[in-house]
Amino acid sequence: MPDGGTVPPRSQPQSPAPLRTHPFPHPITGRPFHSPVPPGSGWPGEAATRHTPAAGAPAQVRALADRATDIAALDALVSVCRACPRLVAWREHVARDKRAAFAGEPYWGRPVPGFGVAAPAVLVVGLAPAAHGANRTGRMFTGDRSGDWLYAALHRAGYAHLPTSTAAGDGQQLTGLRIVAPVRCAPPGNHPSADERACCAPWFDRELALAGPALRSVLALGGIAWSATLGAARRLGWQVPRPLPRFGHGVVAQLEHPLDHPSARVVRLVGGYHVSQQNTFTGRLTEAMLDEVIALLGPTPTLVR
Ligand code: SF4
Repeated sequence: MPDGGTVPPRSQPQSPAPLRTHPFPHPITGRPFHSPVPPGSGWPGEAATRHTPAAGAPAQVRALADRATDIAALDALVSVCRACPRLVAWREHVARDKRAAFAGEPYWGRPVPGFGVAAPAVLVVGLAPAAHGANRTGRMFTGDRSGDWLYAALHRAGYAHLPTSTAAGDGQQLTGLRIVAPVRCAPPGNHPSADERACCAPWFDRELALAGPALRSVLALGGIAWSATLGAARRLGWQVPRPLPRFGHGVVAQLEHPLDHPSARVVRLVGGYHVSQQNTFTGRLTEAMLDEVIALLGPTPTLVR
């Protein structure tokens, strides 16, 4: 298991270790887990170990992100981060108190790493984990209505093996695609602050940098994902259109790697309305509209079923 190396000097004290609840069985494996789930305790797909260093301040997020040499190491480091006190308190509060419908389940209650292949042709960028979705299941867009929409569409397009995504360990696999978020912890009211977005940005920057030469398209679900992708691309030295293109459903912008980069190429940034219930329940986003923006990402891979 990767652990991302040793922790850099701490500039601030870390938030205290989480209070944990009575263990409940995982819905797929039946193995009991406390909530929040302790690192390295056997959660399906878990990348961290008990020894993975936890960032406790913004400077440590930057230092540890820069050290991650591959996606597995990045996933491990992200999943134990404790750098945003308000978000750490909220994600763990939700994990302990739970929603009544999930009262008998363990909640992940930690930052949610990316999900999918390590060298994707397509990145799907959301906003942040949902309190009772990814914050419960530990996997992006898994276990809630937003995820139902997204994975069904990815399955129709040939990127997802299953049309549903209910829990880590359910057999879902992605082909040629990875799902990430610019903020990795569930925020109260789904609204991370500007400081929290800035604190989490190095994880996203590193994710984009490590995506590799196969990357050809990024689907930004919503304006925050759009802005975060443009910001990360600029920080990485990619060429970004001027003036900055504005987000819209179906809008396409081109991002270019620097010419001296060994993998110099164009990456297509596609905007799409977020698959939130606010959009899908009101009809602002329909299945056909979602399929249309996914089609803009380019040819789908050959899916091995
Ligand atoms: S939002 Fe990002 S930087 Fe803040 S605690 Fe979560 S993972 Fe760490």
